[in-house]
Amino acid sequence: MDIEKQVKETIQKYNLIKKTDNVVVALSGGKDSTSILYILHKLGYKVQGLMIDLYLGNWSKIHNENMKQFCKGLGVPLTIVDLKKELGQGICFIKSVLKKQKNLTGCTVCGITKRWVLNKWAKKLGADKLVTGHNLDDEAQNVLMNFLKGNVLLGVNSSPATGGKEVKGFAQRVKPFFFTPESEILKYAKNKKFKILFDKCPCAFGTYRVETRDWMDSISEKEKKDIVTNFQKRVPSLRRDNQKKIMECTVCKEPSRSTICNACKIFVHIRR
Ligand code: SF4
Ligand SMILES: [Zn+2]
Repeated sequence: MDIEKQVKETIQKYNLIKKTDNVVVALSGGKDSTSILYILHKLGYKVQGLMIDLYLGNWSKIHNENMKQFCKGLGVPLTIVDLKKELGQGICFIKSVLKKQKNLTGCTVCGITKRWVLNKWAKKLGADKLVTGHNLDDEAQNVLMNFLKGNVLLGVNSSPATGGKEVKGFAQRVKPFFFTPESEILKYAKNKKFKILFDKCPCAFGTYRVETRDWMDSISEKEKKDIVTNFQKRVPSLRRDNQKKIMECTVCKEPSRSTICNACKIFVHIRR
């Protein structure tokens, strides 16, 4: 599969990015975000990298160093947000407190924290678009996980583009790899010999997402694509009937679907 061509087509079909946009790419240091930054730069978009130092031990240190070298090599600016400066704690501490107090699993806490930091910093950097490396497998996992949790409405914002000027306070998030299988991105990153870590996050174990991901390894790319495209057909009507009004979080002033945003509901436990 030619994933550069597929990215181009997804961008065109869903009108994801304009050549004049200030494009901020959320970098984790893994194959997906590194590859999408590389491809968008190659296609002539004005990109910059945005990364969070999560303080996940050596794993974070290696990722940070790799991304500094990678962006320098491409001549692309990179901002690394220090989570300890931002929230006073690294992600391991935040996760252990939330596990004890709220029984929230690692990836849920980490996901909410990352989304909050990325949105805030993308706006600071004047982003027209915030690109993430989410791929077809991630999207299929989301659809299934929401279904298994008995709440398909959690996927109401699933699409190659979410947020935007019509949703005040959210940097528009776009996912050019929305229809690209993870296995193809892995092949691409290996062929390009990107100097990155291919290991999975050391904290991603025993969570619902990991169990769903393991099960998904047993189904074909075609079945994953069917899950995602069939769900996409339902998204407009789900959105019409269930869109919640966006307001300003009374604590952090970031956008929220309730008076206190999910991130602040978490942060209150680490600020005590
Ligand atoms: S795998 Fe889970 S814990 Fe690791 S960085 Fe991603 S969301 Fe955070
Ligand atoms: Zn808040």
